[in-house]
Amino acid sequence: MDLSRIRNDLEQFAEALSREEYLTRAGLKDESRAAAIRERFASLGSRSTFQEVQAAAQEASDADEARRLRFLAEFLATNCIEYQVREPSDRLTTAEAAQTIAANGERIPLRSAEVRIKNEADRSRRAALESARLAAVAELSGLRREILERSHQEAERLGFAGYTALCRGLSGIDLLALRDLTQPILSRSLDMYRELLAWYLRRRVGVKLAEARRHDLVRLFRAPEFDASLPPAALREAAEAPLRSMRIDPQAGGRIRVDDEPRPKKTPRAFVATPRIPDEVILVVRPGGGPDDYAAFLHELGHALHFAYTDPHLAVEYRRLGDASVTEAFAFLLDGLLRERGWLRRFVGLTHPADFQRFAAFHKLWFLRRYAAKLEYELILHDTGPVSRCAEVYRELLAGATLVDWPHELYLADVDPFFYAGRYLRAWIFEAQLRQHLREHFDEEWYRNDRTGPFLLALWQQGQRQTVEELAAELGLGPLSLDPLLAQITADLR
Ligand SMILES: [Zn+2]
Repeated sequence: MDLSRIRNDLEQFAEALSREEYLTRAGLKDESRAAAIRERFASLGSRSTFQEVQAAAQEASDADEARRLRFLAEFLATNCIEYQVREPSDRLTTAEAAQTIAANGERIPLRSAEVRIKNEADRSRRAALESARLAAVAELSGLRREILERSHQEAERLGFAGYTALCRGLSGIDLLALRDLTQPILSRSLDMYRELLAWYLRRRVGVKLAEARRHDLVRLFRAPEFDASLPPAALREAAEAPLRSMRIDPQAGGRIRVDDEPRPKKTPRAFVATPRIPDEVILVVRPGGGPDDYAAFLHELGHALHFAYTDPHLAVEYRRLGDASVTEAFAFLLDGLLRERGWLRRFVGLTHPADFQRFAAFHKLWFLRRYAAKLEYELILHDTGPVSRCAEVYRELLAGATLVDWPHELYLADVDPFFYAGRYLRAWIFEAQLRQHLREHFDEEWYRNDRTGPFLLALWQQGQRQTVEELAAELGLGPLSLDPLLAQITADLR
């Protein structure tokens, strides 16, 4: 086994794949050719490479080398799975980009449907868009089921009891313990969530809670009532000015590029492409209007800053692999500015920021509840396999968490590979602990303190060498706990 060759291949593979994903997801290219890239780097998708690296990780006596090998083994196992499903995955990406739906007398790309739904004030037109969208998503379920089944088979071929066992064993994250840690989000916030949801739906969307559907929530979170306070033209400066106050260059010396062009085939979900870390980071957003654009831009800016300020001399495993909860936590730290009253007042210019702050906190609570339910559901899905009963389990769990009638058609589309939902949940928990630390050490308005910059830069520099648990321990934040997270949301909702 030639480790330096594997590491070198990983660097080149990640760069090629990232460029391809950028072009297809940003709507610059119709057909995904990621499978060809996976074939070019077939050695990274081979079971024997994984098994050799896994054995080496278990035998390594040097702690740093053992850590690098563990990260590498986790990557290789997930890459073996992605290699096995490369063709159906490309077909899915291509089909999704080509898929159109017909509603309200016009035909639009499937990928534009969600943006249309949130911008549609008329409920019956919104319902028509939603049902056309769900039918189109359901048409792709066969392909998604095939990808999932083949993923499960590959996990077993790699020597694990199943997909969940593979993710758990290689990430070191006890997913069942994480589920037990996060399930109380649902009970502890139920009354507060129900009351606010009923109020917002009635006041802002004109719908009773008992009659609400998913598309009503999408409309509620579009929140056009805040458009005048959060104009698109002011977004960049509102996001970048606090960074300059912290003595952080928002463009990271030109290493961060922003792509915010509204192309029709661009995916509505914002993302950061990282052809080269730290030297070439592309922040991709699709402006759809309203507070969502602020949240998406700030979130992706958090990722972009983390990657663009990662120490270029770090091993590729620490720049590219490791615990993704770390980068998500920095992204949440930035989008959390939407819940900082001082930022809303000073940098967005709101004279009465409390209304928006409450709304942003409610939106975050909704996310937390949704992801707590998703983790529970995905554990069941990966345990039983994509049997038809899962659609009903999905509907019930998501309806229970969101308190609206939830469509079962999304039961395979609304699944992030390799339990990424768990990464989000750990990131939310850690981010709240980190925010509390920043407030205590760098003032309530930590985001305009010039001493905060060096502190954050020192964290970003480490890439993803440490897990969120390790970072929390190093900063003296204690074990992961829901308390700061729920306390901050409760305070913001007041
Ligand atoms: Zn993210």
